[in-house]
Amino acid sequence: MSTVTPSEQATVETDQTYFRCFAGCDGKHSIYDVIYTCPQCGSLLEVYHEREPLRRLNPYKWQQLLDSRASTTTWPYGSGVWAMREWVVPSLRNENVVSMCEGNTNLFWAERLGRQLGVPDLWIKLCGNSHTGSFKDLGMTVLVSVVKQMMGMPGNPVKAVACASTGDTSAALAAYAAYAGIPAIIFLPAGKVSTAQLIQPVSNGAHVLALDTDFDGCMKVVKEVTKDQSIYLANSMNSLRIEGQKTVGIEIVKQFDWEVPDWIIIPVGNLGNISALHKGFKLMMDLGIINTMPRLVAAQAAKADPFYQSYKNGFSDKIAVTAGETLANAIRIGDPVSYHKAVKAVQETDGVVEQATEAELAEAAAEADRTGMYCCPHTGVALAVLKKLVKSGQIKKNQRTIVISTAHGLKFTDFKVRYHESKLDDMVSQHANPPTYLPNDADAVKEEIAKRLGI
Ligand SMILES: *Cc1c(COP(=O)(O)O)cnc(C)c1O
Ligand SMILES: [Zn+2]
Repeated sequence: MSTVTPSEQATVETDQTYFRCFAGCDGKHSIYDVIYTCPQCGSLLEVYHEREPLRRLNPYKWQQLLDSRASTTTWPYGSGVWAMREWVVPSLRNENVVSMCEGNTNLFWAERLGRQLGVPDLWIKLCGNSHTGSFKDLGMTVLVSVVKQMMGMPGNPVKAVACASTGDTSAALAAYAAYAGIPAIIFLPAGKVSTAQLIQPVSNGAHVLALDTDFDGCMKVVKEVTKDQSIYLANSMNSLRIEGQKTVGIEIVKQFDWEVPDWIIIPVGNLGNISALHKGFKLMMDLGIINTMPRLVAAQAAKADPFYQSYKNGFSDKIAVTAGETLANAIRIGDPVSYHKAVKAVQETDGVVEQATEAELAEAAAEADRTGMYCCPHTGVALAVLKKLVKSGQIKKNQRTIVISTAHGLKFTDFKVRYHESKLDDMVSQHANPPTYLPNDADAVKEEIAKRLGI
């Protein structure tokens, strides 16, 4: 039982969380206003939580409070996100929380894989074990909850939510909007998302519009459509989502009894998630809950690597590319929206940006699968990057390393099938393991087993 009293819990006032300009312009904006960028300079906004009210609880009390809430049935604290509600959106009323118990995902020791790769203290944070199968649920529970509260306010213009997506954002938005009874409009690049990703919003009753363009093209259209305030934009340029996603880093530290790991590797596209990780760690630093930062590694697919290219030029220029076709379709993004936030995340954590080819990501995923995992291609990118950093000596043998697995492998059956049929372009699958078809005959079966096991 927690020893935190109710009066200690009620420390956070509602007007001490607001949007402010990420580039530093003056001004506060209500998180219930329909606003996505700074009216003065056009930069992204960030949700800022004034520190003083949060410091009224000491670090030890915060730890106790969060530990006591995890996985309980007291609404809405069973959710990994809403267990941290004072750090997310303190002014959200219980009846407006749109939650399907997201977060609290497992963090497991990848013992055999870590030993093979030369990093025995390797852990996987399985964010794909979530309602719609990716970490996008963490951000959407926050965004859709705020929209629900907003729509109950007098004079509010919002009638629907919309997003452009590489597949997982739309699945999460469609599910949370359907749960809340809010219409959702989804813009997808036609033919560029997996079957599972396409059918998720279709099943949830969203208005699914497949456009003859890529993600960056869909983004332009959705920005145009949401200029009218009646449709609320749910892409990660909307910084409400970052508030939910930042709980991943906090949850990892909590799962290690409030110890900070040495490295966290994360596959990146639009760069919202790495910005979110950084924001969560910064909050914990400011509240005295931790006193070191992990080093953050941004892992990109070589076919869509603008952030890697920017890193290589010392972040002197923001580079945009036309993203090529990659198996890691959720990170097929050429012009990342959260670029400036991510640069800060890398610079302030002494981080690294690295990339992986199609063959590298596919083999890394297959090797991990051989040790009991079932990796999506994006997790494959992160694992391939891990291999490179271990080989180059940047990640040392004794360092605790976390790989963020961003989606569930079952969303990417086409990728797995093509790998094991050795039908992926420009590579020979090293770990292909196709089924063997045999006659209905015990002798033939015995012969096959003897051949395979050498017995
Ligand atoms: C969205 C997504 C990413 C990339 O996150 P960003 O915030 O766009 O950098 C990585 N992996 C998966 C599975 C995703 O859905
Ligand atoms: Zn500004």
